Amino acid sequence: MSAGRVNIAGVEVSTDHYIDGCRVASKERFLDRSPIDGAALAEISAGAAAEADQAVAAARKAFPAWAALGPEGRAPILRRLAEGIKERVADLSAVETVDNGSLLSGNQHRVVPRAALNISYFAEHALTLRGHTIDSPEVVNHVHYDPAGVAVLITPWNAPLMLTTWKVGPALAAGNTIVIKPPEWAPLTCSLLADIAEKAGVPAGVLNVVQGIGEDAGAALVEHGDIDRISFTGSTGTAKLIGTAAARSITPMSSELGGKSPFIVCADADLKAAAQTVAGQYINAGQVCLAGTRILVEEKIEAEFLGLVREAVSHMVVGDPRDAATRVGPLIHPEHFERVQGFVERARSDGAEALWGGARHNQGDLFFQPTLFAGAKIDQEIFQSEVFGPVLTWNTFKNDDEVIAVANATKYGLAGTLFTSDEARAMRIASQVVAGTIWVNCFFVRELAAPFGGSRASGIGREGGTWSFDFYSDIKNVAVRKGSFKH
Ligand code: NAD
Repeated sequence: MSAGRVNIAGVEVSTDHYIDGCRVASKERFLDRSPIDGAALAEISAGAAAEADQAVAAARKAFPAWAALGPEGRAPILRRLAEGIKERVADLSAVETVDNGSLLSGNQHRVVPRAALNISYFAEHALTLRGHTIDSPEVVNHVHYDPAGVAVLITPWNAPLMLTTWKVGPALAAGNTIVIKPPEWAPLTCSLLADIAEKAGVPAGVLNVVQGIGEDAGAALVEHGDIDRISFTGSTGTAKLIGTAAARSITPMSSELGGKSPFIVCADADLKAAAQTVAGQYINAGQVCLAGTRILVEEKIEAEFLGLVREAVSHMVVGDPRDAATRVGPLIHPEHFERVQGFVERARSDGAEALWGGARHNQGDLFFQPTLFAGAKIDQEIFQSEVFGPVLTWNTFKNDDEVIAVANATKYGLAGTLFTSDEARAMRIASQVVAGTIWVNCFFVRELAAPFGGSRASGIGREGGTWSFDFYSDIKNVAVRKGSFKH
Protein backbone atom coordinates (compact mmCIF):
# COMPACT_ATOMS: atom_id res chain seq x y z
CA MET A 1 0.00 0.00 0.00
CA SER A 2 1.39 3.39 -0.88
CA ALA A 3 0.32 6.98 -0.62
CA GLY A 4 -1.08 8.67 -3.71
CA ARG A 5 -3.55 6.26 -5.25
CA VAL A 6 -4.71 2.88 -4.03
CA ASN A 7 -6.87 0.20 -5.53
CA ILE A 8 -10.02 -0.49 -3.50
CA ALA A 9 -12.37 -3.19 -4.78
CA GLY A 10 -10.95 -2.64 -8.28
CA VAL A 11 -11.39 1.13 -8.12
CA GLU A 12 -8.50 3.61 -8.07
CA VAL A 13 -8.92 6.09 -5.20
CA SER A 14 -6.69 9.03 -4.26
CA THR A 15 -5.53 9.04 -0.66
CA ASP A 16 -4.78 12.78 -0.67
CA HIS A 17 -6.58 16.07 -0.23
CA TYR A 18 -8.10 17.87 -3.21
CA ILE A 19 -7.34 21.58 -3.02
CA ASP A 20 -7.65 24.18 -5.79
CA GLY A 21 -8.08 21.48 -8.42
CA CYS A 22 -4.94 19.54 -7.40
CA ARG A 23 -4.14 16.54 -5.25
CA VAL A 24 -2.14 17.65 -2.21
CA ALA A 25 -0.38 15.19 0.09
CA SER A 26 0.40 15.58 3.79
CA LYS A 27 3.39 14.05 5.48
CA GLU A 28 1.19 12.91 8.37
CA ARG A 29 -1.11 10.05 7.44
CA PHE A 30 -3.76 7.93 9.12
CA LEU A 31 -4.68 4.33 8.41
CA ASP A 32 -8.12 3.54 7.04
CA ARG A 33 -9.29 -0.05 7.61
CA SER A 34 -12.29 -1.98 6.33
CA PRO A 35 -14.77 -2.93 9.05
CA ILE A 36 -15.65 -6.12 7.16
CA ASP A 37 -12.38 -7.93 7.88
CA GLY A 38 -10.09 -5.30 9.39
CA ALA A 39 -7.97 -5.15 6.22
CA ALA A 40 -5.80 -2.05 5.85
CA LEU A 41 -7.17 -0.07 2.91
CA ALA A 42 -5.15 3.12 2.62
CA GLU A 43 -2.90 5.58 4.38
CA ILE A 44 -4.76 8.82 4.04
CA SER A 45 -3.29 12.33 4.17
CA ALA A 46 -4.02 13.77 7.60
CA GLY A 47 -4.69 17.48 7.23
CA ALA A 48 -4.53 20.12 9.93
CA ALA A 49 -4.27 23.91 10.08
CA ALA A 50 -1.99 24.31 7.03
CA GLU A 51 -4.26 22.27 4.73
CA ALA A 52 -7.35 23.99 6.13
CA ASP A 53 -5.80 27.39 5.35
CA GLN A 54 -4.89 26.29 1.84
CA ALA A 55 -8.35 24.92 1.11
CA VAL A 56 -10.25 27.90 2.54
CA ALA A 57 -8.00 30.29 0.57
CA ALA A 58 -8.67 28.32 -2.63
CA ALA A 59 -12.41 28.35 -1.98
CA ARG A 60 -12.32 32.09 -1.22
CA LYS A 61 -10.43 32.80 -4.44
CA ALA A 62 -12.86 30.73 -6.53
CA PHE A 63 -15.98 32.23 -4.92
CA PRO A 64 -16.58 35.43 -6.95
CA ALA A 65 -16.50 33.70 -10.34
CA TRP A 66 -18.67 30.76 -9.18
CA ALA A 67 -21.17 33.12 -7.57
CA ALA A 68 -21.26 35.30 -10.70
CA LEU A 69 -22.29 32.34 -12.87
CA GLY A 70 -25.76 32.47 -11.33
CA PRO A 71 -28.02 29.42 -11.03
CA GLU A 72 -28.28 29.14 -14.84
CA GLY A 73 -24.52 29.04 -15.27
CA ARG A 74 -23.99 26.58 -12.45
CA ALA A 75 -26.80 24.18 -13.37
CA PRO A 76 -25.13 22.55 -16.43
CA ILE A 77 -21.95 21.88 -14.42
CA LEU A 78 -23.92 20.41 -11.52
CA ARG A 79 -25.99 18.29 -13.91
CA ARG A 80 -22.72 16.84 -15.23
CA LEU A 81 -21.59 16.20 -11.66
CA ALA A 82 -24.81 14.28 -11.00
CA GLU A 83 -24.36 12.33 -14.25
CA GLY A 84 -20.78 11.54 -13.24
CA ILE A 85 -22.01 10.04 -9.96
CA LYS A 86 -24.62 7.98 -11.83
CA GLU A 87 -21.99 6.68 -14.26
CA ARG A 88 -19.93 5.47 -11.29
CA VAL A 89 -22.68 3.88 -9.19
CA ALA A 90 -20.87 0.53 -9.23
CA ASP A 91 -17.50 2.03 -8.21
CA LEU A 92 -18.88 4.31 -5.51
CA SER A 93 -21.04 1.52 -4.08
CA ALA A 94 -18.18 -0.98 -3.96
CA VAL A 95 -15.80 1.50 -2.30
CA GLU A 96 -18.39 2.73 0.22
CA THR A 97 -19.22 -0.83 1.26
CA VAL A 98 -15.60 -1.86 1.76
CA ASP A 99 -14.87 1.40 3.60
CA ASN A 100 -17.84 1.61 5.99
CA GLY A 101 -19.51 -1.81 5.87
CA SER A 102 -22.87 -0.54 4.59
CA LEU A 103 -24.93 -2.90 2.43
CA LEU A 104 -23.68 -3.11 -1.16
CA SER A 105 -27.18 -3.70 -2.57
CA GLY A 106 -28.50 -0.65 -0.70
CA ASN A 107 -25.65 1.48 -2.00
CA GLN A 108 -26.16 0.32 -5.59
CA HIS A 109 -29.92 0.64 -5.72
CA ARG A 110 -30.72 3.51 -3.38
CA VAL A 111 -27.86 5.38 -1.75
CA VAL A 112 -25.59 6.26 -4.67
CA PRO A 113 -28.42 7.05 -7.13
CA ARG A 114 -29.81 9.27 -4.39
CA ALA A 115 -26.42 10.98 -4.06
CA ALA A 116 -26.69 11.94 -7.75
CA LEU A 117 -30.21 13.26 -7.17
CA ASN A 118 -28.94 15.30 -4.21
CA ILE A 119 -26.90 17.29 -6.73
CA SER A 120 -29.31 17.53 -9.68
CA TYR A 121 -32.39 18.30 -7.57
CA PHE A 122 -30.81 21.36 -5.96
CA ALA A 123 -29.30 22.55 -9.26
CA GLU A 124 -32.84 22.67 -10.69
CA HIS A 125 -34.40 24.06 -7.51
CA ALA A 126 -31.98 27.00 -7.51
CA LEU A 127 -33.45 28.07 -10.87
CA THR A 128 -36.87 28.49 -9.27
CA LEU A 129 -35.73 30.93 -6.59
CA ARG A 130 -35.46 33.82 -9.00
CA GLY A 131 -38.15 36.49 -9.26
CA HIS A 132 -39.58 35.91 -5.80
CA THR A 133 -41.45 39.07 -4.74
CA ILE A 134 -43.75 39.98 -1.84
CA ASP A 135 -46.20 42.80 -2.36
CA SER A 136 -46.97 45.31 0.38
CA PRO A 137 -48.92 48.59 0.27
CA GLU A 138 -45.96 50.95 -0.27
CA VAL A 139 -43.25 48.71 -1.65
CA VAL A 140 -42.52 45.59 -3.65
CA ASN A 141 -40.11 43.34 -1.72
CA HIS A 142 -37.69 41.53 -4.03
CA VAL A 143 -36.22 38.52 -2.27
CA HIS A 144 -32.65 37.75 -3.34
CA TYR A 145 -30.86 34.49 -2.52
CA ASP A 146 -27.26 35.73 -2.57
CA PRO A 147 -24.45 33.16 -2.25
CA ALA A 148 -23.07 33.21 1.29
CA GLY A 149 -19.38 32.53 0.56
CA VAL A 150 -17.24 29.59 1.70
CA ALA A 151 -19.09 26.68 3.29
CA VAL A 152 -17.40 23.98 5.39
CA LEU A 153 -19.20 20.62 5.14
CA ILE A 154 -18.49 17.94 7.76
CA THR A 155 -20.03 14.47 7.65
CA PRO A 156 -19.99 11.15 9.56
CA TRP A 157 -18.95 7.69 8.45
CA ASN A 158 -22.29 5.89 8.34
CA ALA A 159 -23.26 7.32 4.92
CA PRO A 160 -20.45 9.61 3.79
CA LEU A 161 -21.32 10.01 0.10
CA MET A 162 -25.05 10.38 0.68
CA LEU A 163 -24.69 12.87 3.54
CA THR A 164 -21.94 14.87 1.83
CA THR A 165 -23.83 15.26 -1.45
CA TRP A 166 -26.92 16.29 0.54
CA LYS A 167 -24.84 19.34 1.52
CA VAL A 168 -22.75 19.73 -1.67
CA GLY A 169 -25.86 19.99 -3.89
CA PRO A 170 -27.53 23.00 -2.25
CA ALA A 171 -24.26 24.67 -1.19
CA LEU A 172 -22.90 24.73 -4.76
CA ALA A 173 -26.27 25.40 -6.39
CA ALA A 174 -26.68 28.44 -4.14
CA GLY A 175 -23.33 29.76 -5.41
CA ASN A 176 -21.04 28.94 -2.51
CA THR A 177 -17.64 27.35 -2.77
CA ILE A 178 -16.97 24.48 -0.38
CA VAL A 179 -14.45 22.62 1.72
CA ILE A 180 -15.48 19.06 2.55
CA LYS A 181 -14.07 17.27 5.63
CA PRO A 182 -14.84 13.56 5.17
CA PRO A 183 -15.11 11.18 8.11
CA GLU A 184 -11.78 9.59 9.05
CA TRP A 185 -13.31 6.11 9.48
CA ALA A 186 -14.69 6.14 5.90
CA PRO A 187 -12.92 8.81 3.84
CA LEU A 188 -12.79 7.19 0.40
CA THR A 189 -15.99 8.03 -1.49
CA CYS A 190 -15.55 11.76 -0.78
CA SER A 191 -12.16 11.44 -2.47
CA LEU A 192 -13.82 9.85 -5.51
CA LEU A 193 -16.37 12.67 -5.50
CA ALA A 194 -13.53 15.15 -6.08
CA ASP A 195 -12.37 13.17 -9.15
CA ILE A 196 -15.93 13.15 -10.50
CA ALA A 197 -16.32 16.90 -9.85
CA GLU A 198 -13.09 17.64 -11.70
CA LYS A 199 -14.21 15.57 -14.69
CA ALA A 200 -17.60 17.32 -14.64
CA GLY A 201 -15.88 20.69 -15.03
CA VAL A 202 -16.37 22.05 -11.50
CA PRO A 203 -13.76 24.86 -11.55
CA ALA A 204 -10.63 24.60 -9.42
CA GLY A 205 -11.19 25.82 -5.86
CA VAL A 206 -14.99 25.46 -5.98
CA LEU A 207 -14.99 22.01 -4.36
CA ASN A 208 -12.12 21.13 -2.03
CA VAL A 209 -11.58 18.09 0.16
CA VAL A 210 -9.43 18.15 3.30
CA GLN A 211 -8.94 14.69 4.75
CA GLY A 212 -8.05 14.20 8.39
CA ILE A 213 -8.99 13.53 11.96
CA GLY A 214 -11.93 15.54 13.31
CA GLU A 215 -10.03 17.12 16.20
CA ASP A 216 -7.29 18.28 13.76
CA ALA A 217 -8.58 18.92 10.25
CA GLY A 218 -12.22 19.42 11.28
CA ALA A 219 -11.39 21.72 14.16
CA ALA A 220 -8.98 23.77 12.02
CA LEU A 221 -11.71 24.31 9.44
CA VAL A 222 -14.49 25.30 11.82
CA GLU A 223 -12.15 27.60 13.74
CA HIS A 224 -10.91 29.22 10.55
CA GLY A 225 -11.69 32.93 10.56
CA ASP A 226 -12.62 33.18 6.88
CA ILE A 227 -15.61 30.87 6.42
CA ASP A 228 -19.28 31.77 6.04
CA ARG A 229 -21.23 28.59 6.74
CA ILE A 230 -20.70 25.33 8.63
CA SER A 231 -22.96 22.41 7.84
CA PHE A 232 -22.39 19.51 10.19
CA THR A 233 -23.85 16.03 10.40
CA GLY A 234 -22.61 13.90 13.26
CA SER A 235 -22.93 13.39 16.97
CA THR A 236 -24.48 15.80 19.43
CA GLY A 237 -21.23 15.94 21.43
CA THR A 238 -19.16 17.07 18.44
CA ALA A 239 -21.86 19.59 17.49
CA LYS A 240 -21.37 21.31 20.84
CA LEU A 241 -17.65 21.77 20.09
CA ILE A 242 -18.27 22.99 16.56
CA GLY A 243 -21.11 25.22 17.75
CA THR A 244 -18.76 26.86 20.23
CA ALA A 245 -16.28 27.62 17.44
CA ALA A 246 -19.10 28.87 15.20
CA ALA A 247 -20.38 31.14 17.96
CA ARG A 248 -16.95 32.73 18.39
CA SER A 249 -16.93 33.90 14.77
CA ILE A 250 -20.75 34.24 14.42
CA THR A 251 -20.70 31.74 11.56
CA PRO A 252 -24.14 30.27 10.81
CA MET A 253 -24.17 26.54 11.46
CA SER A 254 -26.68 23.88 10.61
CA SER A 255 -26.50 20.59 12.48
CA GLU A 256 -28.10 17.20 11.88
CA LEU A 257 -27.33 15.09 14.91
CA GLY A 258 -28.10 11.94 16.80
CA GLY A 259 -31.44 10.43 17.69
CA LYS A 260 -33.25 7.94 19.89
CA SER A 261 -36.40 7.83 17.85
CA PRO A 262 -39.65 6.22 18.99
CA PHE A 263 -41.31 3.51 16.89
CA ILE A 264 -44.98 3.38 17.93
CA VAL A 265 -47.20 0.42 17.06
CA CYS A 266 -50.93 0.77 17.78
CA ALA A 267 -53.21 -2.24 18.16
CA ASP A 268 -55.16 -1.26 15.02
CA ALA A 269 -52.03 -1.26 12.80
CA ASP A 270 -51.08 -3.61 9.97
CA LEU A 271 -48.96 -5.66 12.37
CA LYS A 272 -47.13 -7.68 9.72
CA ALA A 273 -45.96 -4.54 7.94
CA ALA A 274 -45.01 -2.97 11.27
CA ALA A 275 -43.03 -6.07 12.30
CA GLN A 276 -41.10 -6.11 9.02
CA THR A 277 -40.28 -2.44 9.53
CA VAL A 278 -39.12 -3.04 13.11
CA ALA A 279 -36.76 -5.74 11.83
CA GLY A 280 -35.51 -3.23 9.24
CA GLN A 281 -34.17 -1.04 12.06
CA TYR A 282 -31.25 -3.49 12.29
CA ILE A 283 -30.15 -2.77 8.71
CA ASN A 284 -26.56 -1.47 8.48
CA ALA A 285 -26.15 -2.80 12.03
CA GLY A 286 -28.39 -0.02 13.31
CA GLN A 287 -25.83 2.64 12.36
CA VAL A 288 -28.61 4.83 11.03
CA CYS A 289 -29.34 8.17 12.71
CA LEU A 290 -33.05 7.95 11.87
CA ALA A 291 -33.55 4.41 13.19
CA GLY A 292 -36.58 3.90 15.41
CA THR A 293 -34.74 2.36 18.32
CA ARG A 294 -37.39 2.58 21.03
CA ILE A 295 -40.21 0.19 20.11
CA LEU A 296 -43.42 1.24 21.89
CA VAL A 297 -46.21 -1.31 21.49
CA GLU A 298 -49.85 -1.03 22.58
CA GLU A 299 -50.17 -3.42 25.52
CA LYS A 300 -53.07 -5.52 24.23
CA ILE A 301 -51.15 -6.74 21.16
CA GLU A 302 -47.77 -7.20 22.82
CA ALA A 303 -47.58 -11.01 22.67
CA GLU A 304 -48.86 -11.26 19.08
CA PHE A 305 -46.61 -8.45 17.87
CA LEU A 306 -43.51 -9.77 19.63
CA GLY A 307 -44.02 -13.09 17.82
CA LEU A 308 -44.24 -11.32 14.46
CA VAL A 309 -41.12 -9.25 15.14
CA ARG A 310 -39.20 -12.32 16.31
CA GLU A 311 -40.13 -14.09 13.09
CA ALA A 312 -39.14 -11.08 10.93
CA VAL A 313 -35.80 -10.66 12.75
CA SER A 314 -35.00 -14.37 12.30
CA HIS A 315 -34.73 -13.66 8.54
CA MET A 316 -32.24 -10.79 9.01
CA VAL A 317 -29.01 -12.31 7.69
CA VAL A 318 -25.91 -11.06 9.51
CA GLY A 319 -22.78 -11.19 7.40
CA ASP A 320 -20.61 -9.72 4.69
CA PRO A 321 -22.34 -6.58 3.40
CA ARG A 322 -21.22 -7.44 -0.15
CA ASP A 323 -23.55 -10.48 -0.17
CA ALA A 324 -26.98 -9.70 -1.59
CA ALA A 325 -28.76 -11.64 1.18
CA THR A 326 -27.07 -9.75 4.04
CA ARG A 327 -29.15 -7.24 6.00
CA VAL A 328 -26.86 -6.63 9.00
CA GLY A 329 -23.19 -5.88 8.36
CA PRO A 330 -20.36 -4.98 10.76
CA LEU A 331 -19.96 -2.11 13.17
CA ILE A 332 -17.56 0.48 11.82
CA HIS A 333 -14.55 0.27 14.15
CA PRO A 334 -13.24 -1.58 17.22
CA GLU A 335 -13.72 1.58 19.31
CA HIS A 336 -17.33 1.76 18.23
CA PHE A 337 -17.81 -1.96 18.89
CA GLU A 338 -16.63 -1.44 22.46
CA ARG A 339 -18.97 1.50 22.84
CA VAL A 340 -21.96 -0.59 21.69
CA GLN A 341 -20.92 -3.49 23.91
CA GLY A 342 -20.64 -1.10 26.86
CA PHE A 343 -24.25 0.04 26.37
CA VAL A 344 -25.40 -3.58 26.26
CA GLU A 345 -23.52 -4.56 29.42
CA ARG A 346 -24.83 -1.55 31.34
CA ALA A 347 -28.40 -2.21 30.13
CA ARG A 348 -28.16 -5.71 31.61
CA SER A 349 -26.71 -4.50 34.88
CA ASP A 350 -29.48 -1.85 35.04
CA GLY A 351 -31.98 -4.73 34.95
CA ALA A 352 -33.14 -4.79 31.31
CA GLU A 353 -33.63 -8.24 29.77
CA ALA A 354 -32.21 -9.15 26.34
CA LEU A 355 -35.05 -10.94 24.52
CA TRP A 356 -32.52 -11.78 21.83
CA GLY A 357 -28.94 -10.94 20.92
CA GLY A 358 -26.71 -9.07 23.31
CA ALA A 359 -23.28 -10.34 22.19
CA ARG A 360 -20.71 -10.43 19.41
CA HIS A 361 -21.90 -12.32 16.30
CA ASN A 362 -19.80 -15.20 15.04
CA GLN A 363 -19.42 -13.56 11.59
CA GLY A 364 -16.36 -11.60 12.72
CA ASP A 365 -14.70 -9.22 15.15
CA LEU A 366 -16.96 -6.24 14.47
CA PHE A 367 -20.26 -8.05 14.00
CA PHE A 368 -22.88 -7.68 16.73
CA GLN A 369 -26.08 -9.69 17.11
CA PRO A 370 -29.38 -7.88 16.53
CA THR A 371 -30.46 -7.18 20.10
CA LEU A 372 -33.76 -6.33 21.80
CA PHE A 373 -34.04 -5.20 25.43
CA ALA A 374 -37.33 -5.40 27.31
CA GLY A 375 -38.09 -3.92 30.68
CA ALA A 376 -35.87 -0.86 30.47
CA LYS A 377 -37.11 2.00 32.65
CA ILE A 378 -37.53 5.38 31.02
CA ASP A 379 -34.69 6.96 32.97
CA GLN A 380 -32.19 4.18 32.17
CA GLU A 381 -29.28 4.78 29.84
CA ILE A 382 -30.40 2.21 27.26
CA PHE A 383 -33.73 4.05 26.90
CA GLN A 384 -32.15 7.51 26.81
CA SER A 385 -28.86 7.30 24.89
CA GLU A 386 -28.13 6.76 21.22
CA VAL A 387 -26.31 3.41 20.85
CA PHE A 388 -25.83 3.62 17.05
CA GLY A 389 -25.75 -0.15 16.82
CA PRO A 390 -28.23 -3.03 16.33
CA VAL A 391 -29.81 -2.52 19.74
CA LEU A 392 -33.51 -1.74 20.27
CA THR A 393 -35.66 -1.38 23.38
CA TRP A 394 -39.20 -2.74 23.82
CA ASN A 395 -41.86 -1.13 26.03
CA THR A 396 -45.65 -1.16 26.09
CA PHE A 397 -48.28 1.57 26.45
CA LYS A 398 -51.94 1.64 27.42
CA ASN A 399 -53.19 4.81 25.73
CA ASP A 400 -52.19 7.64 23.41
CA ASP A 401 -51.39 10.17 26.14
CA GLU A 402 -48.98 7.70 27.70
CA VAL A 403 -47.21 6.87 24.44
CA ILE A 404 -46.84 10.54 23.50
CA ALA A 405 -45.27 11.28 26.90
CA VAL A 406 -42.91 8.30 26.66
CA ALA A 407 -42.00 9.10 23.03
CA ASN A 408 -41.03 12.61 24.12
CA ALA A 409 -39.11 11.49 27.20
CA THR A 410 -35.55 11.77 25.80
CA LYS A 411 -33.43 14.80 24.94
CA TYR A 412 -33.62 13.93 21.22
CA GLY A 413 -36.15 14.80 18.54
CA LEU A 414 -34.87 13.53 15.21
CA ALA A 415 -37.61 11.26 13.88
CA GLY A 416 -40.50 9.02 14.84
CA THR A 417 -42.34 6.13 13.23
CA LEU A 418 -45.99 5.32 13.84
CA PHE A 419 -48.09 2.40 12.65
CA THR A 420 -51.88 2.72 12.94
CA SER A 421 -54.87 2.35 10.61
CA ASP A 422 -56.76 5.19 12.34
CA GLU A 423 -56.10 8.48 10.53
CA ALA A 424 -57.36 10.76 13.31
CA ARG A 425 -55.23 8.90 15.83
CA ALA A 426 -52.21 9.12 13.53
CA MET A 427 -52.54 12.86 13.15
CA ARG A 428 -53.11 13.40 16.89
CA ILE A 429 -50.03 11.41 17.89
CA ALA A 430 -47.88 12.79 15.04
CA SER A 431 -48.71 16.37 15.98
CA GLN A 432 -47.64 15.84 19.59
CA VAL A 433 -44.45 13.83 19.21
CA VAL A 434 -41.44 16.16 19.07
CA ALA A 435 -39.42 15.28 15.95
CA GLY A 436 -38.21 16.70 12.65
CA THR A 437 -39.86 13.85 10.71
CA ILE A 438 -42.67 11.45 11.61
CA TRP A 439 -43.34 8.53 9.29
CA VAL A 440 -46.83 7.09 9.42
CA ASN A 441 -47.16 3.49 8.14
CA CYS A 442 -43.81 3.85 6.37
CA PHE A 443 -40.16 4.41 7.21
CA PHE A 444 -37.19 6.30 5.75
CA VAL A 445 -39.08 7.98 2.92
CA ARG A 446 -37.11 11.14 2.29
CA GLU A 447 -38.50 13.59 -0.23
CA LEU A 448 -35.90 16.14 -1.28
CA ALA A 449 -38.47 18.94 -1.41
CA ALA A 450 -39.59 18.32 2.18
CA PRO A 451 -37.93 19.79 5.29
CA PHE A 452 -35.46 17.55 7.12
CA GLY A 453 -33.69 18.06 10.43
CA GLY A 454 -33.93 17.46 14.13
CA SER A 455 -35.50 19.09 17.16
CA ARG A 456 -33.95 19.47 20.62
CA ALA A 457 -30.51 17.76 20.82
CA SER A 458 -31.01 16.26 17.35
CA GLY A 459 -30.08 19.42 15.53
CA ILE A 460 -30.51 23.02 14.59
CA GLY A 461 -32.18 24.08 11.37
CA ARG A 462 -33.92 22.34 8.50
CA GLU A 463 -32.60 21.42 5.08
CA GLY A 464 -34.34 20.12 1.96
CA GLY A 465 -36.15 22.13 -0.74
CA THR A 466 -36.13 25.86 -0.07
CA TRP A 467 -34.99 25.30 3.53
CA SER A 468 -31.53 24.36 2.20
CA PHE A 469 -31.30 27.63 0.33
CA ASP A 470 -32.41 29.53 3.43
CA PHE A 471 -29.25 28.20 5.06
CA TYR A 472 -26.75 28.30 2.20
CA SER A 473 -27.77 31.81 1.03
CA ASP A 474 -27.59 35.31 2.38
CA ILE A 475 -31.21 36.21 1.92
CA LYS A 476 -31.71 39.86 1.11
CA ASN A 477 -34.86 41.93 0.77
CA VAL A 478 -34.69 44.76 -1.76
CA ALA A 479 -37.76 46.86 -0.91
CA VAL A 480 -38.60 49.21 -3.80
CA ARG A 481 -41.07 52.06 -3.25
CA LYS A 482 -43.91 51.69 -5.72
CA GLY A 483 -44.02 54.35 -8.44
CA SER A 484 -40.61 55.74 -7.50
CA PHE A 485 -38.86 55.04 -10.83
CA LYS A 486 -38.96 57.29 -13.89
CA HIS A 487 -40.34 55.50 -16.94
P1 NAD B 1 -18.79 12.47 15.04
O1 NAD B 1 -19.51 13.64 15.59
O2 NAD B 1 -17.79 11.79 15.87
O3 NAD B 1 -18.01 12.88 13.69
C1 NAD B 1 -18.67 13.49 12.61
C2 NAD B 1 -17.65 14.30 11.80
O4 NAD B 1 -17.16 15.35 12.63
C3 NAD B 1 -16.43 13.50 11.35
O5 NAD B 1 -16.07 13.90 10.05
C4 NAD B 1 -15.37 13.93 12.35
O6 NAD B 1 -14.06 13.86 11.82
C5 NAD B 1 -15.75 15.38 12.57
N1 NAD B 1 -15.26 15.94 13.85
C6 NAD B 1 -15.02 15.28 15.01
N2 NAD B 1 -14.57 16.15 15.95
C7 NAD B 1 -14.52 17.37 15.36
C8 NAD B 1 -14.16 18.67 15.82
N3 NAD B 1 -13.72 18.89 17.05
N4 NAD B 1 -14.25 19.70 14.95
C9 NAD B 1 -14.70 19.50 13.69
N5 NAD B 1 -15.05 18.30 13.21
C10 NAD B 1 -14.96 17.24 14.03
O7 NAD B 1 -19.92 11.49 14.55
P2 NAD B 1 -19.74 10.03 13.96
O8 NAD B 1 -19.44 9.08 15.05
O9 NAD B 1 -18.85 10.12 12.77
O10 NAD B 1 -21.23 9.76 13.39
C11 NAD B 1 -22.26 9.20 14.14
C12 NAD B 1 -23.23 10.26 14.60
O11 NAD B 1 -23.75 10.97 13.48
C13 NAD B 1 -24.43 9.67 15.30
O12 NAD B 1 -24.73 10.45 16.44
C14 NAD B 1 -25.55 9.80 14.26
O13 NAD B 1 -26.85 9.84 14.81
C15 NAD B 1 -25.17 11.07 13.61
N6 NAD B 1 -25.80 11.18 12.30
C16 NAD B 1 -26.81 12.09 12.13
C17 NAD B 1 -27.48 12.18 10.90
C18 NAD B 1 -28.61 13.15 10.70
O14 NAD B 1 -28.96 13.41 9.54
N7 NAD B 1 -29.20 13.69 11.74
C19 NAD B 1 -27.07 11.36 9.85
C20 NAD B 1 -26.05 10.44 10.06
C21 NAD B 1 -25.42 10.36 11.29
